[in-house]
Formats: sequence, structure tokens, C-alpha cells
Amino acid sequence: MATAALTLLRETFGYPEFRGYQADIIRHVSEGGDALVLMPTGGGKSLCYQIPALLRPGIGIVVSPLIALMKDQVDALRQLGVRAAYLNSSLSLPEASEVERGMRDGSLDLVYIAPERLVTPRCLDLLTKCKPALFAIDEAHCVSQWGHDFRPEYLKLSVLHEQFPTVPRIALTATADGPTRSDILERLGLQNSRIFAASFDRPNIRYRVAGKNEPKSQLFEFLQAEHPTDAGIVYCLSRKRVEEVATFLCTKGRVALPYHAGLDPGMRERNQDRFLKDEGIVMVATIAFGMGIDKPNVRFVAHLDAPKTLEAYYQETGRAGRDGLPANAWMTYGMADIVTLLSLMESGNLSERQRRIERQKLDALLGYCETPKCRRQVLLSYFGERDHPPCGNCDNCLRPVRVWDGLVAAQKAISAVVRTGQRFGAAYLIDVLLGKATERIKGFGHDQLKTFGVGVELRKEEWQAVFRQLVAMGHLAVDVEGHGGLYTNESATGVLRGQVPVTLRSDVNEPKRREKRSLPAAADAMNSPEDEKLWQALRALRLSLAREQGVPPYVIFHDATLADMVHRRPGNLIALSEIPGIGASKLKRYGDIFLKTIAETAVETAD
Ligand code: ADP
Ligand code: ZN
Repeated sequence: MATAALTLLRETFGYPEFRGYQADIIRHVSEGGDALVLMPTGGGKSLCYQIPALLRPGIGIVVSPLIALMKDQVDALRQLGVRAAYLNSSLSLPEASEVERGMRDGSLDLVYIAPERLVTPRCLDLLTKCKPALFAIDEAHCVSQWGHDFRPEYLKLSVLHEQFPTVPRIALTATADGPTRSDILERLGLQNSRIFAASFDRPNIRYRVAGKNEPKSQLFEFLQAEHPTDAGIVYCLSRKRVEEVATFLCTKGRVALPYHAGLDPGMRERNQDRFLKDEGIVMVATIAFGMGIDKPNVRFVAHLDAPKTLEAYYQETGRAGRDGLPANAWMTYGMADIVTLLSLMESGNLSERQRRIERQKLDALLGYCETPKCRRQVLLSYFGERDHPPCGNCDNCLRPVRVWDGLVAAQKAISAVVRTGQRFGAAYLIDVLLGKATERIKGFGHDQLKTFGVGVELRKEEWQAVFRQLVAMGHLAVDVEGHGGLYTNESATGVLRGQVPVTLRSDVNEPKRREKRSLPAAADAMNSPEDEKLWQALRALRLSLAREQGVPPYVIFHDATLADMVHRRPGNLIALSEIPGIGASKLKRYGDIFLKTIAETAVETAD
């Protein structure tokens, strides 16, 4: 079994070795065992059921919640020469009958089926006639009411085990938290299955949090500097802001498309389709966008507004760099984000218990944003992986932040809050501390206060960071109904008395200093004009082949495969076949034409 699996991996999929737990999972499921697979996005979950489905007699049945993406998955498999199809409501009656016939006469290896369809008596009956090799339940967290992706149809999937007790089941998800995991095991009746939990680290993603100044221009600078031609996602909190940012990027010459629940479904689908099939598109979206997007070369995920929780942040940033090449998770964050998140929580009408949970989640997120330590350590320890070493691939590792004893500054800030009556926002308080005698301040007589002008040793941006951190630490609170006025919490008294130490991170907000360039993306790894030229030629060829077939370019070859062609310049089919990502089927279909382009581009360059 093991060698058969490896042969399939090499010949059909074109990859030299299994990764992580893949080989173990494939062995276990091929031998008929049930499994729950917890692996981060991009970890390589698909192979864990595709290969056992090919090894076992009969048809692999894959349950997948997103109709829009089934076609892509099936297209990708067909490129590899795998006999795959899908059954969902987008098919016409004759098309569906054709697939059903293929299932009955055994001319298919893998069939993707929408959950609501699978559990119909008609479909279950069909399955009895076609010998299922296994059931793969993708995005298995959809069975849990805990998450945002709950799908009631998933609850009915327990019927599979009842009707086909001897067919192995493999449930897969990238959602790691405890409650979701136990929900999956219980609701799908998988208590006796083996659990394969991979590390949730995504080493190729570089995490960064920038202080928020002018978020749109900061975003544009980031894109110009690091992703001038790459595809990526920009997340914003509201529809209005999505529209605004998309328009802004377009006026700056980027192809940016909006995506949010307020657009009509046709438009949403068109925008998503373009994001998948064209190159270099920036999707500006609310969190409505992204579940199941398996475009491998999303090179960055930017958050212009802070996400609601670390779980959400991990999911959203996880859409970057599925292909394993370097990718960026970049966020701007400021006091306004804290105020927004707090008011979202307040408006939630929550019970005392829920409130406490939400508050803990918010604190975890703020802790991540404010940490002077390795961000990956903070993120992973939140998911229970506590022993990760500093990563060397986050802003804090790359440019260690200074921490300083902020007790005196905190006392000044808190005293400004107290003396002005616990109702002014940070901007006003900072003016008081800096001794700016504005009309408003004079109007309230606050230029007469003892705290007026006592804070000139820090710049405005530095005071902003102080206030933000005091709120994040819980010494100050925001009156979200009263226009963001600050007031003191109990612990503030301890700070005023000097009993509570206050360690602050020095402001990350240094607009003049450019962030160091991140690791090169595939396109940047071209180290000569000749490389660059060939890279562009290969991309153009890939795009035209993809257009002819109406599939996304990455279904033909991934960026990493093209980049490897550039570096190795294979001169014949054997050399080409050694490049990861080129299996027998793709070699046959595309080998000659890619070799021709490589040879011709070399000649032109030599001229
Ligand atoms: P997931 O579903 O876990 O997000 P995928 O199954 O889509 O991840 O795999 C992510 C990427 O990694 C894909 O481009 C896939 O082709 C690639 N991949 C998976 N397994 C291997 C492997 N053993 N060697 C090389 N690449 C792999
Ligand atoms: Zn780090």
C-alpha cells in the first residue's frame, strides 16, 4: 500500500515526497480506518482523501459545502488525469444523469457531492449501487454551531455511517479549537476515529501589525513596495469601507474588486471568478469572502480593520500562501479598532457569560496586536501550541521592539482622564498633555489643569500608543455609546499609586522608516532580466492555456512550478518531469509547449 501511494503521488500528482502526516493518514484510511484530520490551510489535506480513494476499489465520495468551488477542484483533478466529477444543483438534469451513470458503471474515481444532495433518499440509493471507496467530509467544522460556517445539512451526514458502516470516513478541517473538534467527533459519530492534528503553524506567512495612521495610503505603500503585481485580499469591516477602498485602489491603478453581502449575487460571483481566473487582482472584501477559496497564490492578506477574534484572524490570514511560498499577513491597528470592537460587543445583547467569553476573545486579540514578543508564538499558544520558538518571520522578530517602563506616562495619561471628568477621547486628552491651548480646551478651562502640558516628552503618536495600550491592558475603558470617551477602570488606581507596573512597547508607528522588504515572492525570486523575461513568458502561456479551457491558471501549473522551470531551464521532457508539480498527465499535455517556450525565450535573449 505504502509504495502504491508513493507511486501515485509521484506519477499522478508529480510531487516527490509526502508531507507531515500525509503518509500516515493515507495508510490509515486506505486500510479502512476512520480519521479526523486537523491541518492548517495549505497543509495538503486534499491528497489525504484523494490518494486513498484512488487506491481503494470503488468511488471516493467527497462532501464539500461550496458549490462554486467544486468545479475548480474537479478541473484540477482532471488535469492530472483523474476521473473526477461533481453533483450539485448547478448541473442540468442530463448532466447530472451522466455523472450518475458514470458512478454506477464505475467509470469515475472521485465524485464531489453537495451535502444537501447527498443525504436525499435518491442519492443514498444511488450510493448503494456504486460501491463507495470512502467518504471524505471536507470543511468538517461546518457541522459545528460554534463557528460561523454552520451548515444544518452537515448534521444529517451521520446517516452515511448508519447506512454504510464499513466504508471509511475521513473528516477534514482547518479549524482547530477544542469545542469545534469535539462537535465534529460527536455529530459525525467519529468518536472511534484516529485524530491527526498537525501543527497549525504557517511558517511561510509573515505576520505584521502596523500602527494605523492613514490606513488607505499605508495599504497602498505596502502594496507598491511588496506586491505590485500580486493577487491578495484586503479585509474591511463594513460594506461602505469595502467600496471606498476598492475605488481608492482603482484610482491608484490597481485592479481591485469589491466583495460583500450587499452586492447582488451575480456580481459577487463574477468578482470571485475574476479573482480566481485572472492574475494580480486585489479583492477588497468583508468577511463574507473567503471560505473555501483555495487559490494557492494569494500573496497577501491585509486587514485594514482589526478582525474580531484571533480565530477569525488566523482563518482569514490563512488564505495567504497556500502554495507554501512566502506570503504576508499585514494589519493596521489603532484606537479606532478597539472602539469598534468594543461597540460591536456592547451591541450584541449578550448574557453575562457570553460577554465574559467575548471579552476574553477581544483581550486575546488586543494582546496579539500589542505584544512586543514573537507574534507567531502568541498566535500559536492561543491555539494550544505553547512551545514554539521565536519565529524570525514576524515584525517583532525581524525588528525587535523596545519595551519601556511606562509607569510615569501611564500616570500622566490616567490623571488627564480623571481631571477632565472621565469623558473625553484620546485626541483631546493628548492635546491637554501636550499643552495645546485649543479653543475647545480653553472653553472647558482645561488649560488651567495641573496636567496641562505635562506630557511634552512624548510625541502625539507616542501618546496614542500609550492610550491604546492602557485600554488594551484594561486600565482605561472606552465609553462606546458616548463617542469614545475614556474613563478609568478600578485597576487605574493601582497605577496612579505606583503599585501596578506598566510596561509598554515603544510605538511601532514610525511612518518614515520603510519596512524591510519581505522574503521574495515567486515573481521576485527572478534574479536576472533573462529570468524575469522567461517568467513572464511562462505566465502568459499558462494564462492563455487556462483561458482556452475556462479554468484558473493555477490549475495548469502553480507559481512554484513555473518558478522552478525558470531556475532549472529544463531542455527535455525528462528534466521537465523532475520539477515538482508535473505529473504524467500534465507532462503529456503541456510538456512540449512549455519546453518550446523555454527554448525560444532563451534564443531571443541570446540575440
Ligand atoms: P488544504 O486543503 O489543506 O488547504 P491542499 O490540499 O489544497 O491544502 O494543498 C495545498 C497545496 O500543497 C496544494 O497546492 C497541493 O498541491 C500542495 N501539496 C500537497 N501535498 C503536497 C506534497 N506532498 N508535496 C508537494 N506539494 C503538496
Ligand atoms: Zn516571530
